[in-house]
Amino acid sequence: MNPQSATDELAAEHALRPKTLKDFIGQHRVRQQIDVLLRAARKRDSAADHILLSGPPGLGKTTLAMILASEMQTPIRITSGPAITHAGDLAAILSSLVEGEILFLDEIHRLPRPAEELLYLAMEDFRVDVVVGKGPGATAIPLQLPRFTLVGATTRAGLLPSPLRDRFGFTAHLDFYEESELEEVISRSAVLLGLTIDKDAIGEIASRSRGTPRISNRLLRRVRDYAQVNGSNSLTHSDAQAALDMYEVDAKGLDRLDRSVLLALIERFNGGPVGLSTLAIAVGEETETVESVAEPFLVRNGFMARTPRGRVATALGWEHVGRTPPPGIATLFDTPAPDA
Ligand code: ADP
Repeated sequence: MNPQSATDELAAEHALRPKTLKDFIGQHRVRQQIDVLLRAARKRDSAADHILLSGPPGLGKTTLAMILASEMQTPIRITSGPAITHAGDLAAILSSLVEGEILFLDEIHRLPRPAEELLYLAMEDFRVDVVVGKGPGATAIPLQLPRFTLVGATTRAGLLPSPLRDRFGFTAHLDFYEESELEEVISRSAVLLGLTIDKDAIGEIASRSRGTPRISNRLLRRVRDYAQVNGSNSLTHSDAQAALDMYEVDAKGLDRLDRSVLLALIERFNGGPVGLSTLAIAVGEETETVESVAEPFLVRNGFMARTPRGRVATALGWEHVGRTPPPGIATLFDTPAPDA
């Protein structure tokens, strides 16, 4: 994607973000939990407890953080683990927060270690120690911070060290969305984009969205492009099918990355078991991308399984790429999958 179209995509995504908890579709339990947390904080007239949001990309973590800020009527500062290269960067951000402000720290599992340690004190005691000078003469000057709410987001809650995880008052795990919820997301977005869309077209997009609202919105825009290029402003089922086939999203929602992971597992490793990093090398991707983007979807939908000996393709996975599963494949799943 060129930088201009990446910026356009970001702007389009921002325009479709729900602004209130009421407009946030699905995730009923998380919504209820956050609602109580917000009401209690408002009643006490103090900042809400620190919140950790975990789950695969595109499920609404950033959206929820922004909703928290608007519901609490507080400003929000957005940054991410990889953007903070030194503990000093984080100290500067923390010391410039105002009372009640939300600090949204995306990809918190990628925060450098010294910054993470600084965060412990900040989260617990609302304090940072600023080190002045070097060597034996260095002194730590404690600096009091305003009460702020840290909203951390991670695709890999399991990667967070427990001292950090334990400092969050509440952890919300966002799960993939049901198709009916994605249909709601698409209908809402179509209205915001001023589009007319058939019910069947909505269903087609929802079923190919990998359980992910960000993908629903993206596919809706691609179907819109396709229909508009063909001179129509009203999106039909056949527009949806043709556009999604063109963008290589298959009938079960697998995209190019998902399919290449599944194909590599089957063709190069005879269905596994194989270690995740070996699999990632085989498809030329970062281990983290395969682990946080492709794997949760493939496992959740039964195309692939995690076993103590590594990743394996299931019978469904073999069949999906047009291969006959080897006999006795079911016995591979007798042992429960490890969490990581
Ligand atoms: P994450 O931070 O988890 O990667 P985002 O919060 O950026 O995901 O969500 C991606 C897009 O998906 C948003 O722009 C928003 O339009 C849409 N979205 C996410 N969750 C919901 C939801 N529950 N209801 C409606 N739209 C949603």
